[in-house]
Amino acid sequence: SVAALDDEVPTRHRVPDRYAALEHAPGPGRFVNTPDTDPAVAENRARARAVLARVPSCDLGQDLIDAAHLRTSDEVDATVARTRAAAPAWAALPADERAAVLHRAGEVLEERRFELLEVMAAETGKTLDQGDPEVSEAVDFAHYYAELARELPGVDGARFEPATLTLVTPPWNFPVAIPAGSTLAALATGSAVVLKPAGQAQRCGAVLAQALWDAGVPRDVLALVQVEESTLGRTLVAHPGVDRVILTGAYDTAALFRSFRPDLPLLAETSGKNAIVVTPSADLDLAVKDVVASAFGHAGQKCSAASLVVLVGSVATSRRFRDQLLDAASSLVVAYPHDPRAQVGPVIEPAAGKLLAGLTELDPGESWALRPRRLDDEGRLWTPGVRVGVRRGARSHLTEYFGPVLSVMTATDLAEAVAITDDVDYGLTAGLHSLDPQEIAAWLGAVQAGNLYVNRGTTGAIVRRQPFGGWKRSAVGPGAKAGGPGYLDVLGTWHPRPARE
Ligand code: GLU
Repeated sequence: SVAALDDEVPTRHRVPDRYAALEHAPGPGRFVNTPDTDPAVAENRARARAVLARVPSCDLGQDLIDAAHLRTSDEVDATVARTRAAAPAWAALPADERAAVLHRAGEVLEERRFELLEVMAAETGKTLDQGDPEVSEAVDFAHYYAELARELPGVDGARFEPATLTLVTPPWNFPVAIPAGSTLAALATGSAVVLKPAGQAQRCGAVLAQALWDAGVPRDVLALVQVEESTLGRTLVAHPGVDRVILTGAYDTAALFRSFRPDLPLLAETSGKNAIVVTPSADLDLAVKDVVASAFGHAGQKCSAASLVVLVGSVATSRRFRDQLLDAASSLVVAYPHDPRAQVGPVIEPAAGKLLAGLTELDPGESWALRPRRLDDEGRLWTPGVRVGVRRGARSHLTEYFGPVLSVMTATDLAEAVAITDDVDYGLTAGLHSLDPQEIAAWLGAVQAGNLYVNRGTTGAIVRRQPFGGWKRSAVGPGAKAGGPGYLDVLGTWHPRPARE
């Protein structure tokens, strides 16, 4: 059951002290974030247009996926055995050589930016403006983990031993950045990797794997697999040859994995139900822009999305913020990503279950300030929805819908807004819009979430600047943050080293 995992959810992860120097060190190896595509450059616009034209017929990665399907438990065994056998030679390389391969991977991913944008749009419906920062993030992970890995062996009194085989099971919503980050982190430590892309994003995973192979990751050190059948998936996750799983997905999936194998070392980034609080001191124009981007970007399909906005005091009682929010949300163009006007793309599958309820049903006291409309027969294109009158403890307060729908709640003061934020089981991101230093300090000290953002949206964490990871049921395992110092440390085992003389 879900509660069975609750003693494994983190509330804080302490970054080892030795990274303090690296974090601020200038000079060689200094990490600089990769810029997104500049649309002011005419050539970039031309390339983007060419990508959009190819999206409807794109079949990038399909051949690799056909070859990657495991159909029997013998094939699972063979892949695990082959990958494990390749690990020692990879782990034995000097850290600098592995780092060079990772840096090269960052370069190849940058060279293939538009190819990655194409397959993301074609396979998962991600619009180009959402895909572009995701490629930047993947490139960042490569260069950042390459540098972090150099720090692993240099610890007095302890020796780092990488996992032999890490299984990476990423989600479909960030089909490049998340598999890239998890895979590159494990590779950087010297582990071999079996990468099983999400079922809805198999080709994205394949194009990524090809880039890493082309950058010099040996073919057997990184295995790309797909399993269609749930029993085989279980065989893979529970396989005794798997030393660790890096999962990004639903909390329930982490619980399922745990039920497959109770002693499985699991590092999981799981669900979120994240709130942005807006106080009367806020810059309301900025707040509107950030709430809209955080709630409806990628049609709300981010663990980091803000699906609650909590209006405090006069922001709740006056119409100004609400009217601007509704104007902004209703102006968004909802379309498939090959339409250049698209700002909100499709949801990954026709809305059903929880999401459909979130888009269509109201609980007592609730009404639609903006009612979601279905624009296609299939049920994948929905206009943004804004629900008001949401009571504490209602379904739409506590449920992660993972779609383009936002709940508006009200609070008399900041303390009540924090309580509303913290009522949920998860604690991934949280946002505050306030220009009052005392409010900001109080909020920062009180909110139970891993990533706290002040006067900024809750999505799009930047590698190194905003290491990403949750508390409560938003994470399972050691709670180290992706894209931050200390992430690699939790991917292996530390052994005490006999004191030197
Ligand atoms: N790292 C992403 C962000 O900051 C979210 C990842 C996720 O949705 O799992 O927006």
